[in-house]
Amino acid sequence: MFKAILIERDERPYRAGLTELNEAQLPAGDVTVRVDFSTLNYKDALAITGKAPVVRHFPMVPGIDFAGSVQESENSSYRVGDRVVLNGWGVGEQHWGGLAQLARVKGEWLIPLPVEFTARQSMAIGTAGYTAMLCVIALERHGIAPDSGEILVTGAAGGVGSVAVAVLAKLGFRVVAVTGRAAEAEFLKRLGAAEVLDRAVFASPGKPLGKERWAGAIDVVGNHTLVNVCASMRYRGVVAACGLAGGLDFPATVAPFILRGVTLVGVDSVMCPRVDRLEAWRRLTQDLDVTKLDLLTEEIDLSQVIDRAAGLLEGRVRGRLVVDTRR
Ligand code: NDP
Repeated sequence: MFKAILIERDERPYRAGLTELNEAQLPAGDVTVRVDFSTLNYKDALAITGKAPVVRHFPMVPGIDFAGSVQESENSSYRVGDRVVLNGWGVGEQHWGGLAQLARVKGEWLIPLPVEFTARQSMAIGTAGYTAMLCVIALERHGIAPDSGEILVTGAAGGVGSVAVAVLAKLGFRVVAVTGRAAEAEFLKRLGAAEVLDRAVFASPGKPLGKERWAGAIDVVGNHTLVNVCASMRYRGVVAACGLAGGLDFPATVAPFILRGVTLVGVDSVMCPRVDRLEAWRRLTQDLDVTKLDLLTEEIDLSQVIDRAAGLLEGRVRGRLVVDTRR
C-alpha cells in the first residue's frame, strides 16, 4: 500500500483526498518510481480544486512532476536505484501523477536527476522552475542578452516568477519584478530583482503602444497584463509567455508586433521535446544559485496538499511548495 492524493468524480461531487492505494492499482508503464518529492504547481492546484478541467479522467492522482528513484524497470534505459525526474507529459492530468509515494510511468518521460541536485532541490525547482528556465532560453534564442536592456518578470513572487528572477539576476540581467504583494518586495530583491513594480500598473486595459522600456519579458499572467507588457516592449523586444494566472484572454492589438517588431514566444513545458528539457535542466545546474532555493521554498507533506491548493490559486504562496511524499 502507498499514500496518494486521489481526485474522484462519480455520483458524488468532485473531491480530492489523501488515501491509501494498492500497488496493483497503478496505471500501465515500464518504470515504477518511488517518489521522494513532488511539488504543488498552479496546474495541480487547479486539478485538486476542480477550478479548471485539468483532469481528463477519474479517479486521478494529481501531480505534474516528481523526483525519486527507480523501484522497478522494464525499460533498458533505467535500472533499479536510478535517480529520476519527471515534468509534464500529461502526468497528473491523464496519467496518474507525482502526489503519491509511488508512480508508474513510461520510461521515455523520465530524465536523469542532474547529479548537482538532490531530489528535494529538483522539486523545489519543479515544473515552475524548469518552465522559468525554458522562458529564459527562449529570450536568449531570440537574441536577448544582458546588454540588451531590462527584463520584466510578472507574477514574480510565484513559482515561475521567483525562479525566473533568480536565474536572470545570476546571468547578469537587470530584472524588474512585478508583484501584487508589496510585502514581498524585499524577498524579490534578495532573489536579485533590481526594482519591484506594482502589478496594478499592468492590470487594466491600456494603449496599443506605450513607452518603450523592456528588452525582454517573462509573463505568467496573460490577459491585460500580457497585452500591456507587449505594448511597452522596446523595438525588437521579446516576450516569453507561459501562464494564465490572470486569465486566458489576450485582448491585444497587433501594433507592438507590426510597428516595433516585438516577438511573442509561447512556452510550453508539458510536451516540450526531451532535448530541450535536458538543456533546461543542465542550464539550471549552471545558472541557478541553489542557495536561493531555500529562500523561495516551503516544504509540506501529502496531508497538507489539499489545504494549500486553494491558497496557491489565491496567490497566497510565496515561491515554491515542495511536497515530501515520504512522510
Ligand atoms: P503561482 O501561483 O506560484 O504564481 C502565479 C503568480 O501570478 C502569483 O503568485 C501572483 O504573483 C501572480 N498572479 C496571480 N493572480 C494574478 C492576477 N489575477 N493578476 C496578476 N497577477 C496574478 O503559479 P506558477 O508560478 O507555478 O505558475 C504561473 C502560471 O504559469 C500559471 O498560469 C501556470 O499554469 C503557468 N505555467 C505554465 C507552464 C507551461 O508549461 N506553459 C508551466 C508552469 C506554469 P504576485 O503575487 O507576485 O503578484
